[in-house]
Amino acid sequence: MEGRRAVASASVRCPACGNVDDKVVDSRQSDDGGSIRRRRQCLECGRRFTTFERLEELPLVVMKRSGDRMPFDRHKVVAGVMAAAKARPVTDEAVEALTTQVEDRLRLLGTEVSTEQIGLTVLELLRELDQVAYLRFASVYKGFDDPADFEREAAGLTKDTAPKKH
Ligand SMILES: [Zn+2]
Repeated sequence: MEGRRAVASASVRCPACGNVDDKVVDSRQSDDGGSIRRRRQCLECGRRFTTFERLEELPLVVMKRSGDRMPFDRHKVVAGVMAAAKARPVTDEAVEALTTQVEDRLRLLGTEVSTEQIGLTVLELLRELDQVAYLRFASVYKGFDDPADFEREAAGLTKDTAPKKH
């Protein structure tokens, strides 16, 4: 899992003896995806303990189709989702939460992600939040120019299949 790093993973004090050398015996992602639960064992006394570590903000870089790289800007995701969810019963808080989830998922992919990965991740999450907003976002993101594409996507929704991946 390169590309993500957790706060304080370098030095965690053993709750029993205060030693800072430990080994990680198990790591797993929390249910909300935003933190890592680590089971550790003190190298000094052998005591086992658990830490919960927030995924740290390593800079996330976006690679555009042109090959240009730019820093990930969550405001762009928020703006895109807000536009898609206009006049829909989707709260600002829900958009913010979705954006955080998008960012967390992207970080699991590494420090560099493509615009396509961002779009697909937004679609995946937006689909669960609001289907109209999902279709609107899909139409912009995928650049649908043929009504048949839109219909296929709508049909996919009712069949509950995953969005088409390229
Ligand atoms: Zn210890």
